[in-house]
Amino acid sequence: LNPAPLPPGAAEGAPIVQRAQLDTPVLLDSPHSGTFYPADFDHVCDRALLRRAEDFLVDRLFEAGPALGATLICAPLPRSYLDVNRAPSDLDPLLLPPHERGAGADSPSAKSELGVGLVWRLLDGEVPIYARHVDRAETQARIQRCWVPYHQALDRAMDAAIARHGKAVHVNCHSMPAASRLYPAELQHRMPYDFLLGDRDGSTADARIRERLHMLLADHGYRVGVNTIFKGVEIVRRLGRPQQQRHSLQLEINRALYMDEALHQPHEGFGRIQALMGQVVTELVNLSARL
Ligand SMILES: [Zn+2]
Repeated sequence: LNPAPLPPGAAEGAPIVQRAQLDTPVLLDSPHSGTFYPADFDHVCDRALLRRAEDFLVDRLFEAGPALGATLICAPLPRSYLDVNRAPSDLDPLLLPPHERGAGADSPSAKSELGVGLVWRLLDGEVPIYARHVDRAETQARIQRCWVPYHQALDRAMDAAIARHGKAVHVNCHSMPAASRLYPAELQHRMPYDFLLGDRDGSTADARIRERLHMLLADHGYRVGVNTIFKGVEIVRRLGRPQQQRHSLQLEINRALYMDEALHQPHEGFGRIQALMGQVVTELVNLSARL
């Protein structure tokens, strides 16, 4: 099982957009499953290690989405090259050349402090990705190549759903390692949940969406965390305006459910989780008619 082949333009950074085949206001995006490593990445860390940053095969886990009525938008380039789920101002000062540091518009987040801001500096909080700085001009070029077209595609799909249905129901799809040095020490760096649902404490989506998905996943026996550990980052923050019927929720899938993280391969659980994500989409389609 391999990543889906790249459509035209994707190697240049154009998002991969698969339109809903049924008329519904549901939209999914996978910002971190990109596997096309551009020639100008110029990283020095091991590629196999770098690939562990991918939300591996999340695009494939949701591939039934379009047939079930959801538009599916995926980023083709890897999140370690430019993370489209970060604010463009989330610049890691240590990655910039010293003379470019400290501009007033920069607002490095806690993610940048861990080396995983807009442009990643570190893997696992310790392995340097580059043997050089990444300056503002190079960062800007990556923003134009990756961030701008991705967010334009999201905005267009949200606006189209609003124009046609008066509402948009968006799920931002991710996967997370079973264990990570970046997880809180009090969790012993292990993820205690199978799934995380995040709507930034109810501020980015109608609560019924997370409640329905919580019930569906818990009914299958999974451990579901709600607005804990990861509550949603830039994409749900930017898109979620529930009072305007623009709903946006983050879904994190524990990678242990569908892949062997050490081998970087799907395991026998992949088909089960893929089928379950089809149920998630169907639930969203049904619920969206009642919102
Ligand atoms: Zn992710």
